[in-house]
Amino acid sequence: MPELPEVETVRRGLQPHLEGHRLKRVTVRRPDLRAPVPPDLAARLEGRCVRALARCGKYLLWHFEGGDVLLQHLGMSGRLSVFTKPPPAPSPHDHVDFETEAGACIRFRDPRRFGLLVLSEETALAAHPLLRAMGLDPLSEGFQATALLAGLKGRSGPLKTALLDQHLIAGLGNIYACESLYWAGLSPRRRASSLGPGRAGRLVAAIRRVLDRAIAAGGTSLRDHAQPSGELGYFQHHFAVYDREGAPCPACDCKGGVRRIRQAGRSTFYCPKRQR
Ligand SMILES: [Zn+2]
Repeated sequence: MPELPEVETVRRGLQPHLEGHRLKRVTVRRPDLRAPVPPDLAARLEGRCVRALARCGKYLLWHFEGGDVLLQHLGMSGRLSVFTKPPPAPSPHDHVDFETEAGACIRFRDPRRFGLLVLSEETALAAHPLLRAMGLDPLSEGFQATALLAGLKGRSGPLKTALLDQHLIAGLGNIYACESLYWAGLSPRRRASSLGPGRAGRLVAAIRRVLDRAIAAGGTSLRDHAQPSGELGYFQHHFAVYDREGAPCPACDCKGGVRRIRQAGRSTFYCPKRQR
C-alpha cells in the first residue's frame, strides 16, 4: 500500500503536468472504485484549470480554479502515470484518464479498486469527513515534539502501534514506522505514553529524515508503486530493518541481527539492542 513518500513522489511527478494546466477531457471507464466515482466528475472538471496539486496525508488534493477540489486516494494498488504522447489503449484496470490541453494524459490505474475519487469545495475541505479526523502530516511545520507528545499522552499501547494510527500521524505506514523507530533508537514495544521531550524530539527528527530520504529515492516499490514517469522507487534498497529479519543490523554490533515480531496484526522489524 502506498505510504506518504510514495504519494508525495507521485504528487511531485504530476505537478509540472497539472499545475497551471487546463483539463481538456476526463474519461471515466468505471462508475465505482471503493465508492462510486462522482457521476458529474467529467462535467465538473473539463475545461477547468488546476491551480495547485497538494497532498494531505495519503490524499492528493487537486485544487481547481473556481473552488472545486478533487480528493484522490490511491488505495492499495492505485497508480498514476503521465503520458506526454498519446497513451496506449487502456487496459481493464485503467479506470480514469485526465487529458490536459497541453497534450498530457494522466492515467489512473487501480487493479484492486480500493482507490477513491471524491469532489469537494475548497471552503468545505477542512471539515470534510475524510480529512477532519486526520492526524498531523509528518512533513508539515506543525509536526514537532510537543505535538507528538500531546498525541501520545494517555496511550497505553505500544509506540509502534500508535505511530500507525492515522488520527495521530497521517500517512506513516508500517515500513516507515519501523525504519523511523530504528533510527530513533526507540523500541517498538515501549509504551506510547512513556516518551519524554528528548525522545519525542529524536523520533520526530528520525521520521522526517526517513521520509525525506524515501521521497528522494522515489518512494518504495515493493508491489505496485511507480513514479508517474514509470520509473520505480528504490528506497527498498535502503531499508535498515524492514523485511530484513535475521540480516545484520546496520548500525550496531548485535549478534542476532534484525528481529521480527507481530504487533496489532502487522510485522514489526527491529533491533532489541539498539532500540530501547
Ligand atoms: Zn542491532
